[in-house]
This record gives sequence, C-alpha cells and structure tokens, in this order.
Amino acid sequence: MQLSIVIPFLNEAESLPELIQWIEKVMNENHFTYEVILVDDGSKDDSWKFVQSQCSSKPNIKAIKFRRNYGKSAALNEGFIKAEGDVIITMDADLQDSPDEIPALYKMIVEEGYDVVSGWKKKRHDPISKTIPSKLFNGVTRRMSGIKIHDFNCGLKAYRKDVVKAIEVYGEMHRYIPVIARWAGFTKITEKEVVHRERKYGTTKFGWERFINGFLDLLTISFVTRFGKKPMHLFGMLGSLSFLFGFIVTGYLTYAKFFMLEFHMTERPIFYLALVSMIIGVQLFVAGFLAELISRSSHDRNHYLVEKQLNLQ
Ligand code: UDP
Ligand code: MG
Repeated sequence: MQLSIVIPFLNEAESLPELIQWIEKVMNENHFTYEVILVDDGSKDDSWKFVQSQCSSKPNIKAIKFRRNYGKSAALNEGFIKAEGDVIITMDADLQDSPDEIPALYKMIVEEGYDVVSGWKKKRHDPISKTIPSKLFNGVTRRMSGIKIHDFNCGLKAYRKDVVKAIEVYGEMHRYIPVIARWAGFTKITEKEVVHRERKYGTTKFGWERFINGFLDLLTISFVTRFGKKPMHLFGMLGSLSFLFGFIVTGYLTYAKFFMLEFHMTERPIFYLALVSMIIGVQLFVAGFLAELISRSSHDRNHYLVEKQLNLQ
C-alpha cells in the first residue's frame, strides 16, 4: 500500500463528510493505493456515526474510537501504530489542510528520499492572536532543535513508514514530531509550502494555554533529548558549580573572621548567598542521583534503532 492517511479528530461531524469525499477524489485521480485511518479522540457529536457508515461500505476507510478524549498526540500515535502504507500522511480533520497537497508530499518522500516533510502554512488563515505567538514559538523551536523549518505544528505532514514506527508521540508532543524524529536519527527533514484554509465548521480545540504548554514541552523535550540518558551530567555540573561557589566563599568568610578579625560577616549579603548556594548545590546533586536511578531502571534505557546489519540475523 502506498499511502496511509491518519486523521485525528474531535467533534468534527460537519467537516468529515467533505474531507473524506475530497480525499477519495484526490486518491482516485492519482491512482494511489491507500487507507484512511480516522482516529476519534472521544467525540461527543455525530462524528462517529458518520465514520461507522463509511467504514461499513468502504474497506480502505478504517477507524479507531477512544473511550474518552486523550489528545491529538495520543490519536496520532495510535494511527501510527496501525498504519501500513509506505508513506504516512497526517492531516487535521477540520478542512484547514488540503488533500490536494498529498501527491506532492508523497513524491518528496518516495522520489526525493526525505524522511519527514512538514507542511508550512506560509499564508495562514488564523486570527492574529494565534499567528504572532506561533511565530515566536517556531523561532524558539528552530533555534533549540536546529531543524530549519518554519511551522513545526502544522497538522499536514508526510513521513516515511520507518519514522512513524520508530517514534512515540505522547503527552502534547505532536507539536514536536520533527524534533522527535530527528532525535531518533532521521535527519532528512524538510518542509513544503502548503495551502491553509479558514476553519469552515466548528471551533479550534486548543485555547491560549497551547502556548504555555508548548514552551514547557519544548523545555522538556530539549532536556530529555540531551540529558535523558545521563541526567547527572546536567545536575552534577550545576550542583558542583553552585556548591563550589558557596564553599569557597564560606571558606573565605571563615578565614576573614579568624585571621582578619572581621566581626560583621553575617551582615554581608554574600554570606547568605554562599549558604544558599551550598544547599542548592547539594540538592541538585541529589536530584541528579535520583534521576540516574530512574533512568537506569527505565525500560528503554537501552533502546536504540539499528539501521542496518551485515552477516547477522
Ligand atoms: N484534535 C484531536 N484531539 C484533541 C484536539 C484536537 O484529535 O484533543 C484534532 C482536531 O479535531 C483537528 C486537529 O486535531 O482535526 C487540529 O485541531 P484544531 O483544528 O482545533 O487546531 P488548530 O487548527 O486550531 O491548531
Ligand atoms: Mg484547525
């Protein structure tokens, strides 16, 4: 099978019929072999009824329904597990992403050999309250991850099958799939300008918290990527610096008290700073050791991806 189109959705009953029709039109025009995997992330409207009616007559439309709302990341992850196509396309269900882009994305993966092609909504049709923070967010992510793309959170993306089988998307990490892919060793990541349309039906499912959560997730991901398997390297270094600073200053103050007969050392701010930094240093060390213990016992402590083997089973 050439294509798996994974579509997570939450209460998109009005959009789904149009979307499915459109996808089928594009697929048939291009003679693709394909499957559509619809993941219902706990919808409360009539979405699932429509999906059921589709699935009963069309074997290449497949669907999963979550018992409750688990979030877009979980929905994507489940779709990735089930996907069987050589190229996996993800897209939003709200008709903001256009299925017309699929053939070109497919080509970039198959013919140009990219691992991930991320959509870039260059001309966006979203309120300004979303576009400006989004620019900032993308800028920071670009700098921190080193991946030169403009629009990390675009729902429309294409992946080589190996990529989606190798990565796990959890929490709210769907915003960072290119970063996760890169971390897993897939370096051919690029972007393609795609058409973006206004939301025709329904409303956005993410509020303003998305930006705060997004930044927190970025911190988590860059911490986990760099230090997840060796947390002591971060905590140990910060802890040593902090402790050492406090220790040296305290040593100096003690010397000053006894040999230079300075009696007002407790009135000097540096005295308190030194004490606090010694305590913080020890705490950082303890945090580092605990983190090491946790990472030692985690089930994926030795998880790596083997790309090729020679003369081995
Ligand atoms: N979505 C989902 N689970 C959620 C929230 C959203 O599956 O908990 C789906 C939603 O139905 C849509 C896609 O994720 O297909 C993108 O959501 P939305 O259009 O609300 O996001 P925006 O375009 O505002 O970034
Ligand atoms: Mg949308």
